Amino acid sequence: MKVLKFGGTSVGTIGSLRNVKRIVESIGEPAIVVVSALGGLTDRLIATARMAAVGEGDITAEIDAMEKRHSDIIESLVATDRRDAVMASVGKYIAEMRDVYKGISLIRDLPEKTLDVIVSFGERMSSVIVANILGDARHCDSLDFIKTEKWFNKNIADRTLTDDLIRKSFGSKLEHTMVCGGFISRDRDTGEITNLGRGGSDYTAALIAAALDADLLEIWTDVDGFMTSDPRIIPEARVIPRMSFIESMELCSFGAKVIYPPTIYPVFHKNIPIKILNTNNPDAQGTLIDDSVQEMEENVRGVSSLRQISM
Ligand code: ASP
Ligand code: MG
Repeated sequence: MKVLKFGGTSVGTIGSLRNVKRIVESIGEPAIVVVSALGGLTDRLIATARMAAVGEGDITAEIDAMEKRHSDIIESLVATDRRDAVMASVGKYIAEMRDVYKGISLIRDLPEKTLDVIVSFGERMSSVIVANILGDARHCDSLDFIKTEKWFNKNIADRTLTDDLIRKSFGSKLEHTMVCGGFISRDRDTGEITNLGRGGSDYTAALIAAALDADLLEIWTDVDGFMTSDPRIIPEARVIPRMSFIESMELCSFGAKVIYPPTIYPVFHKNIPIKILNTNNPDAQGTLIDDSVQEMEENVRGVSSLRQISM
């Protein structure tokens, strides 16, 4: 069984969602699909919350635009017999969102946990939509099985509880393809909505893959794979066809933006390979990350960089 994660750009437009549908439906057996919020939406949700907290800008217009973006996708890609139900689910989230934004505007304050509720709407909406675009797929709610605990001021995954709940939620054999939102979680003690940090959908997918002993974790993104360097800085950058878990951890921890760094650990531990693939170029070979050590002529696998760091 495979776990596939599609990032924001993969679920951000009607065109890329058509590719997602093609990719998932061609697998030929049930899989688990983890999705990000529509590309750019998380940033927009946060920016709108900050505007509400200082009493600036037209919050209603912002929410209307976000609603329209989702409903346009539903109109174009969800089959007519399911469309009203999906519109209603997304409409409920939008209504809830309006209330939360209203609350922020009234109290002119943005507590951390309110922001966590705001950003959760992105993945909650995208996952319901994608589940209804794919043939024969079911939606499942990550808030039911991804649990965090407070660690100083941070929310970190409670691995033991989360593993256990993932196994209980998905059972030993998948009957259908299951679609869930990445990134979002609940605090195991308070039940409040939390998240795994920006870029955390990759980590959700890795937690699921590790708990279920998946055969493969596929990270579908908008580049052809792990590159030898950042192509925006080094135009000659090439895709690295294969590398080890350790090499990918090094590159990710030191600035490569392909995968959220904590992602690699849970699957590395279970020796589950990761593939980095391009939703808009699905035939490209991508990058395979596993426990093998590749011989190479060059002495360096890749170069990454971190900006604005002082040590
Ligand atoms: N939507 C979240 C973010 O933009 C999580 C993710 O995409 O991985 O950070
Ligand atoms: Mg990402």
